[in-house]
Formats: sequence, structure tokens, C-alpha cells
Amino acid sequence: MTVPFVDLKRQFRTIEPEIRPAIEGVLESCAFIMGPEMRAFEQEFARYCDVRHCVGVASGTAAIELALRALDIGPGDEVIIPANTYVASALAVTATGASVVLVDVDPVSANIDADVLERAFTPRTKAIMPVHLYGRPADMESILAVARRHGCFVVEDAAQAHGARYRDRLAGGLADIACFSFYPGKNLGAYGDGGAVTTNDPALYDRLILLRDFGQRRKYEHLIKGTNSRLDTLQAAILSVKLRHLDRWNARRREAAQLYNELLRELPDVAVPDISKECESVFHLYVIEVPD
Ligand SMILES: *Cc1c(COP(=O)(O)O)cnc(C)c1O
Repeated sequence: MTVPFVDLKRQFRTIEPEIRPAIEGVLESCAFIMGPEMRAFEQEFARYCDVRHCVGVASGTAAIELALRALDIGPGDEVIIPANTYVASALAVTATGASVVLVDVDPVSANIDADVLERAFTPRTKAIMPVHLYGRPADMESILAVARRHGCFVVEDAAQAHGARYRDRLAGGLADIACFSFYPGKNLGAYGDGGAVTTNDPALYDRLILLRDFGQRRKYEHLIKGTNSRLDTLQAAILSVKLRHLDRWNARRREAAQLYNELLRELPDVAVPDISKECESVFHLYVIEVPD
């Protein structure tokens, strides 16, 4: 029996009656770039994450790059990231011209180890980017404490953590700025590429609005050097439908993780994920450790 890694066909069948009219609405209006569905989704996702602002962008990688650029991070600067993450976290940092500094991870959380974080600082450190890997929020309190002490920014790579909670607060609103991916296989996935940046800071929001659309606020009025990195209206319409189901899907992932933990615990030499109330994972991935 082949078990698919993620069965998007099956998921599509359950929401097809909502998805088709959402797509057709965009086809009828032909507002493919920054249409009303994109703005609507941005507001819905900001509300979902309990933050003031959300900016839809072209991918999760673009979200990280633009978030760092909004913070004015570039050549000569250093960004600390965990050694154990998806390659995009590092590539997005280097795309800004900044350098990546890797720190090791805590074996239980698989996230940045706040105890070794201190040693990674140099005078050039501009930001720490914890990654809520596998859907489990990083130990934000200790990371934020170290960051405040050094006066640097904290950027969440929340690409795997839509709906994850750290002490009752949602991923996306735990630091200065946060980055999401809507790659199809993510917990909240589009039917193509997509991403978003969330923040409570109006000045950062304003920079992001310009950066993702050629630096313009009005057509042909290019205020800064931006790029083309907008969330497709079609993808936004799809994401609005799927957002309504996200909490239920995440709850089922957590139930499955709980069950796997109970069943696998009997096996020798298998380390199962720690299930924590404080860092409530949305189990983008369920990862076990074995000696071999
Ligand atoms: C998926 C992912 C990204 C990149 O997102 P894309 O939308 O594929 O560009 C970045 N960081 C992490 C941790 C991811 O899992």
C-alpha cells in the first residue's frame, strides 16, 4: 500500500463546491493582479493570525526576502538562523546580500537553542530568524530576550506553522515580522505558489506594500526599488476558502500526532515528537528520530 505524503486530491474533493465558484468569480472579473480577493484574503489572514497587517507575496521565500529588506537588512549584515531548516530560509537571507549565521538546535524542540544563540552574535548581527519547524513554535520568550539584549530584530519563519500557538498567541504575531508560505503542501496551501508577511508595525507594512509591487503606491509612481512579488488573485481566492477549514484540519493533524505518539512509544529506540501545551504544534510534519 502506498500512502501519499500529502493527499491534495482528496482534500480538493471535500472543498470542490466552494473552490470552483471562488475561481470562477476571479475569471469573471479578470482582476488577476491585486484584485479584491487578494485584499480580502490579506485582511482575513491578518485577523486569523491576530495581527494588524498582512501583505500577500509571491512565495514563502519571497516573504522572507522582502521582510528582511523591509527591515533594511542587506550586504554586510548577518542573520542568525537554525542549522536545521529548509534551504529556503538560508537562500532568502543570502538573496538580500546579507550573510547567514547558523546556530545549532535544541534536540527536543528541533528549534533554535537559545542557550547557544548568544555565542553567534557579532557586531554585524541584524536579526534572528527562528523557524517554527514542523509546525512547532520556537521558544520565543528566550529568543526575544536575547534579541532585545542585543538590539536586533526577530523574524519568524512561519512557513510551516499556520495556526500554531505559543502560549495562546498565534505564529505570525510573535515577533517583529513573520513570513508564511502557501506552497500547496503546507498546512494552508494554494494551488500554486504564494506567501505572506504579517506584522503589527505600520511602517514595516508600508514598506512591504511598496517592495512587493515595483516600489509603487500608485501606478508609475516608483518611490523605492521594489520588485514583482504579488500574491495572485486566483490563489488568494482559493486561500480564503481553505482558511475557513484550517483550524479543523490542524486539529486533525494534532489528533493524528497524538495517536502516532501513543502507538510508536512502544517501539525501542524511537524518539517521538514532544507534544507541548506551551508550544502548540500544527504538525506540518510528524518527525521521529531513530539511531540509524
Ligand atoms: C516552504 C518553506 C519556505 C519557502 O516557502 P516557498 O513558498 O516554497 O518559497 C521557507 N521556509 C520554510 C521553513 C519552509 O518550510
